[in-house]
Amino acid sequence: MIPGIGLDEARALLKRVYGYDAFRGLQEGVIADVMAGRDALAVLPTGGGKSLCYQIPALLRDGVGIVVSPLIALMADQVDALKQVGVRAERLDSSMEFMARAEALDAAARGEMDLLYVSPEGLGTNLAERLASMKVSLIAVDEAHCVSQWGHDFRPDYRALGRLKGLFPGVPRLAVTATADARTRDDILAQLNLADPAVHVASFDRPNLILSAEPKEGNRTARVTHLVRARSGASGIVYAATRKAVEDVAEALEKAGVPSLAYHAGLEANVRAARQRQFLLEEGRVMVATVAFGMGVDKPDVRFVIHADPPKTLEAYWQEVGRAGRDGEPAEGIALYGPADMNRSLQWTWSSDAPDEVKRVQLTKTRQLFAFFNGDECRRGAVRRYFGEEKVDPCGVCDACKGELGTRHDATRWAQMAVSAVLRCGQRIGRGRLVQHLLGEAKDDFDTELSALSTFGIGRDLPKPAWNRVFDALMFEGLIAEGGEAMRPVVIVPDAEAAKALFRGERTVSLREDLTAPKRRPRTKGAARAALQADLSARDQSVFNALRLWRTELAKARGVPPYVIFHDRTLAEIARERPSSAEALREISGVGEKKAQAYAGDVKRIMDEAA
Ligand code: ADP
Ligand code: ZN
Repeated sequence: MIPGIGLDEARALLKRVYGYDAFRGLQEGVIADVMAGRDALAVLPTGGGKSLCYQIPALLRDGVGIVVSPLIALMADQVDALKQVGVRAERLDSSMEFMARAEALDAAARGEMDLLYVSPEGLGTNLAERLASMKVSLIAVDEAHCVSQWGHDFRPDYRALGRLKGLFPGVPRLAVTATADARTRDDILAQLNLADPAVHVASFDRPNLILSAEPKEGNRTARVTHLVRARSGASGIVYAATRKAVEDVAEALEKAGVPSLAYHAGLEANVRAARQRQFLLEEGRVMVATVAFGMGVDKPDVRFVIHADPPKTLEAYWQEVGRAGRDGEPAEGIALYGPADMNRSLQWTWSSDAPDEVKRVQLTKTRQLFAFFNGDECRRGAVRRYFGEEKVDPCGVCDACKGELGTRHDATRWAQMAVSAVLRCGQRIGRGRLVQHLLGEAKDDFDTELSALSTFGIGRDLPKPAWNRVFDALMFEGLIAEGGEAMRPVVIVPDAEAAKALFRGERTVSLREDLTAPKRRPRTKGAARAALQADLSARDQSVFNALRLWRTELAKARGVPPYVIFHDRTLAEIARERPSSAEALREISGVGEKKAQAYAGDVKRIMDEAA
């Protein structure tokens, strides 16, 4: 620790500038290391508060803090938010005017700048040398997994960051990221040349996420619309697999009166940028997007992420649902999945040109993803175990923990009938025909030919929808698969040994419902919003609403996202506590010195009017 500057100062700064009472999770440890001048790597989950890990040491240490970030355009909001709390911050990017850039650099050289945000390619020029001539407090590398080929978002420009060690001797460097497995972590340390680094890895848990998954049934777009409307007024993201699906869902939402935006790689870059901006600035917008959307989107108050189509892997799932609830307030992740999705993903891997060992890994990942969706285990627990955490308690709030999945019913007998029908019919017909066959329906000569087989009509006890459920389950279990041409798929048995085990009764199949009495379970409540506002009385609620309106107006006038003024949580606490002076307002979590001075008058007026 630098003499005279300790964690007490850091804590005081946290309260004075940001208005928070305590550090979260690993923040304190990371900050202590950086203040002591040590290199460090911090892997904290999304919303874990990575920014404060470098902002606070930069404010306390002498000199300007340099933050390297891959998406400099998106840093605008962070710089805005810093200015709001009175921190001297600027970003340097190539789109900036020469004069503004020169001014920011001069201010930094005079020691009148706390933080400068730069892009990795920007540092490749002589900017790095210019900065090296100044007093620098620390260098932070954001989204540090981009340096590694093992990460999922490799950026060649990051490779050059290793040379910063030589250019800035004695300046602590901090790498931060939300996603890095052990291999990626080692790579980050090596590529960035971190010296004797302190490594902090937080749990992958995201305690405020309420997760659920449901099989696709009926019209998927209608179901998504229904789910979104039940959460109206909240900001959310809907992920869909294709551009067409994105446009369909966005259109259906518009028709249903939900303000939505479509986003995919087929749109012009300026349209994409404008929509992303709109999503950040406006409250209650729903972004319907392919996975092209999301990286670097730091909107803290996203209340739900709905997967209209499943993601590619559990890693991708975690990153995508992770965009909900960065503010730590309850947020939902709802995924829709079906056997056809799994099949598409498997087929795609099979037919790709990847080397066999890569294919094998991908096939396993696909199966793990669908086993997760279709499983009964606590959702958050299952993800954490997947990422290698050992001691994991059930979350208590997901669909599995709350018992919403229904109890398991043995369906082995039906599964045996279905698989033997597939084999008897020669693995050359599709699912629809197989179900007819099981039901004893013959519609043409070909069916009639099959009607001589012993499996014809053995399934008359179950209705057709129930049979579809059995086929879905068999697909998830890998007992059957789809083969043949894309336009005329046939059902096959890919693993003869597994089928034999099923016939011998060594392997069982179960379903979440009693097939002889099927019923649907509509789940529509907006759990996240309900939780945030649960403890507001009717009167507090009206003050809360008035404060939100004020915030919307102010944000619009300033051209900043509403959460840059105050988070919902802060507004809710104001509505409850009714602080009548700047001093009282300072006591509210999320209100620092600067904001208390700036807004005490407005807040008091609004409370008086609304109460
Ligand atoms: P990350 O970059 O890790 O996803 P951020 O740094 O954007 O997370 O922080 C997420 C949110 O949590 C921000 O709104 C931030 O103001 C808030 N936050 C960070 N640290 C704390 C803390 N110690 N107490 C309360 N809120 C915090
Ligand atoms: Zn759970």
